[in-house]
Amino acid sequence: MRSISASVALLGTLSGCFLFPPGTTADETGAADEPDEYEDVGDFRLRWGSDGGYEDYADWTKEWLEGSNDYLNEQYRLPIDIDIRHEKCGMENATWDGERITMCYEMEARVVELFDGALETEEDILSASSAAWVFILFHEVGHGLIDVYGLPVPGREEDAVDSFSAVALIDGGAPDAVVYAALFWLLIEQDSGGEPNFADEHSMNMQRFYSLLCWVYGSDPRGYEYLVEIFPDLESRIAGGRCEAEYEQQSDSWHELLEPWYQ
Ligand SMILES: [Zn+2]
Repeated sequence: MRSISASVALLGTLSGCFLFPPGTTADETGAADEPDEYEDVGDFRLRWGSDGGYEDYADWTKEWLEGSNDYLNEQYRLPIDIDIRHEKCGMENATWDGERITMCYEMEARVVELFDGALETEEDILSASSAAWVFILFHEVGHGLIDVYGLPVPGREEDAVDSFSAVALIDGGAPDAVVYAALFWLLIEQDSGGEPNFADEHSMNMQRFYSLLCWVYGSDPRGYEYLVEIFPDLESRIAGGRCEAEYEQQSDSWHELLEPWYQ
């Protein structure tokens, strides 16, 4: 593997194509025989807490997050309102607590700090950070949808919602955001340097890194062939069309689970 900075810098040249295309929707399904229980009576609602020294982050993420929020509301019927709150938390975190999503400025700052150490231009740093931040948001949205829709989760929910986030971003026309999210976990791993916590409910950072690369590659092998050149270890994961199959299975599973809830 090349040095991490060189690899991330190479990917940095690809930034700038993450905006969700307007009006992107999933397959039209079931409008005619739509049962009342799937009525759309709620929305995702962005909320901004006091900036507490993070004014810049609040400013530059707003546009990106508003686009993502519109996309979510165009995609999903909600039985309740779900607030997505940005605020200073006193810790690096992003959570779904059963009622709302909280995105902590401290964690956002950490995302920017890591990309700042790996990319050159401010534009690349902000694009990469925004992309990874929206991936993290969609991961929390995945927890929220599982909860409010009462969806079954056969396996570890943390892995499932990484997969939800990847599928939603790829469907939404922002597959490169998944690549930047993968790089975020690579950078975190490089930066943390501590002993792995095998008891943690999440997969290891490097497992998340390779899984995300695998899924985005699987969604478009030709378009993401370059990932294998940059990260040759990916070769063993993609062999035999495994990543295409893995991505298709996850995409089909999410679409089947979410079908009654699509707008
Ligand atoms: Zn989670």
